[in-house]
Amino acid sequence: MLAYPDMSQVIYARVPDAVKADVERYADQRGVTLSSAAVDLLQRGLAAAGEERSIANLETRLAQVSNDKAALEAKLQVATNDVGALRMFSQRAATTTVGSCPSCHSPITGMDLLGRGSCAKCSASLLDLLAPKAPPPQPLLDDRAIGALVGALGIVLITAAVFASKGA
Ligand SMILES: [Zn+2]
Repeated sequence: MLAYPDMSQVIYARVPDAVKADVERYADQRGVTLSSAAVDLLQRGLAAAGEERSIANLETRLAQVSNDKAALEAKLQVATNDVGALRMFSQRAATTTVGSCPSCHSPITGMDLLGRGSCAKCSASLLDLLAPKAPPPQPLLDDRAIGALVGALGIVLITAAVFASKGA
């Protein structure tokens, strides 16, 4: 361990008495010259300093990864909230009767009108209900039910916007 083939270079350095005494003791204990002991201790010191830098780099990297993970978790939370709000809205739209089919007069839901665009029973298009070419002789849509659904959709959009701004 203490055999260094090339010992031709010189480092002239003044050291405190205690350090010199410690290096001499180190050399005595191993039966080597003072120079070999000093070289060995310097090598070990340099290796330890290199490891400290490596550890500092790893700690920095770990902190970065932890930050990335926290940011991803926040985005996942936003997406989860958005999906939850949309699911609640779609359930409400699927169960809220908003009028009757112009073809078979079956009740139609918000999902039939705004989602599928056709009657669930007879498959007739409901496009004319949303954009009538001419006013129907009697109203086929329940304006209050549609108003409530639009209000619920507004809450979904506001919730998504609030969480999106938090997650940005
Ligand atoms: Zn129908």
